[in-house]
Amino acid sequence: MLTFFNTLSRQVEEFHPLEAGHVRMYGCGPTVYDYAHIGNFRSFLFIDLLRRYLKYSGYKVTHVMNITDIDDKTIERANRHAVSLREYTEKYTRLFLEDLDHLGAERPEIVVAATDHIEDMVELIKRLETNGHIYTSEGSVYFRISSLDSYGKLSGAKLEGNRSGARVDVDEYEKEDARDFVLWKSSKPGEPHWSTPYGEGRPGWHLECSAMAMRYLGESFDIHCGGVDLIFPHHENEIAQSEGATGKPFVRYWLHCEHLLVEGQKMSKSLGNFYTLRDLLEKGFSALAIRYLLISAPYRKQLNFTLENLRGVETRVKKLVDFKRRLKEFKSLLGTNASLATELKGFEQSFRAAMDDDLNSSAALAVVADFETTLNRAMASEQLFADEHAAANRLVEAFDSVLGLFGKAEEVDLDAEVQRLIDERVAAKAAKNYARADEIRKELAAKGIVLEDTKAGTRWRRA
Ligand code: AMP
Ligand code: ZN
Repeated sequence: MLTFFNTLSRQVEEFHPLEAGHVRMYGCGPTVYDYAHIGNFRSFLFIDLLRRYLKYSGYKVTHVMNITDIDDKTIERANRHAVSLREYTEKYTRLFLEDLDHLGAERPEIVVAATDHIEDMVELIKRLETNGHIYTSEGSVYFRISSLDSYGKLSGAKLEGNRSGARVDVDEYEKEDARDFVLWKSSKPGEPHWSTPYGEGRPGWHLECSAMAMRYLGESFDIHCGGVDLIFPHHENEIAQSEGATGKPFVRYWLHCEHLLVEGQKMSKSLGNFYTLRDLLEKGFSALAIRYLLISAPYRKQLNFTLENLRGVETRVKKLVDFKRRLKEFKSLLGTNASLATELKGFEQSFRAAMDDDLNSSAALAVVADFETTLNRAMASEQLFADEHAAANRLVEAFDSVLGLFGKAEEVDLDAEVQRLIDERVAAKAAKNYARADEIRKELAAKGIVLEDTKAGTRWRRA
């Protein structure tokens, strides 16, 4: 039975979607003002793991991700680079999606930009106006949080001390500062703006997610997720806007991913303690190892990032990729090994039990490691026969459909070919055949592979 810790109820609950067999989920997407860092990607890979496991569990998934292409930061950056907001944000949207692909994340069914949904947002403000939740001040429209009794139910933010009419215009603020928040900002010089019944202006950040989520998933849907820093104010405000408009429960299960830390502090742009995916690829790390590291801890546990850990993981993923290849290529004889068949069933059950337990990915990876050890042993002792061989290959595919850690077939082949050439080059140099060694370096360079000779041996990376 699949269970999740629900931030809303603060309890582990059994998961049942509203519509049998179909999960509708929304994950908050990036603000596209710069490259995302791997802290951001921890959250996006958690959402990827969630959607993959829902599919593994037999559900059809409709997953929506927004692209925040308008806020203070995107506007400021576009102005600084003297390009239109659209041009600026399209570039970083593309780069974000490329990084997501590199990290092996599946694309959500629906990826949509905020600025393409201004009308939906205006409609939502109209409904909030009808229900008496808004007021206007100095040309901007605010949500009056005291008009909604349930305000604070997700985050535990208290209304006490909230002076009537005290407002915030900024998108991000602390729980202690629960205030009326902005839905529509009156236009300032130099900012993109839209003409609406609420005046010339632009949307506040929170409004876009309510509008887009309900547009594609309906007024009530199953799962909403993001990083823990979004619980307040962003998700609290999304609930207020949506439930204030519809009077119906907005989302049934709220799932939040803990932060990636660097030396005990949240990895963030503002602290400057971050790595982008590109930074790490340039250092010679593989996207597969980064993916492994980011999903290796259960999503509700903080995870401390170090380059040293990543180095360790690099060895681990190489083994996984190699294991998959060796298992595939193994020449098994016809026959059955009943005890191995039972063990394989056990691995499948344990994997499911781990993931059913609020997506306990570290337990699931431990099951995969045991599975690998058992099969390595069976292959070495020639105890792997055709029946279980087929079953084991199927199990690798099944585990990989959730984890995405065994490498893509083409990459695996390329990696093996690169390693073969590197070995040949080492042998050529040892035999003082420098011409052949040079030739191999050039051959690899043509494939976009750069070699580095270090004391520890030859390392390679993609250029
Ligand atoms: P942003 O682009 O700032 O809106 O953030 C995109 C996503 O990354 C959100 O779900 C954030 O909660 C999440 N996030 C930001 N920093 C971290 C971090 N250090 N660890 C995990 N998730 C993070
Ligand atoms: Zn959002």
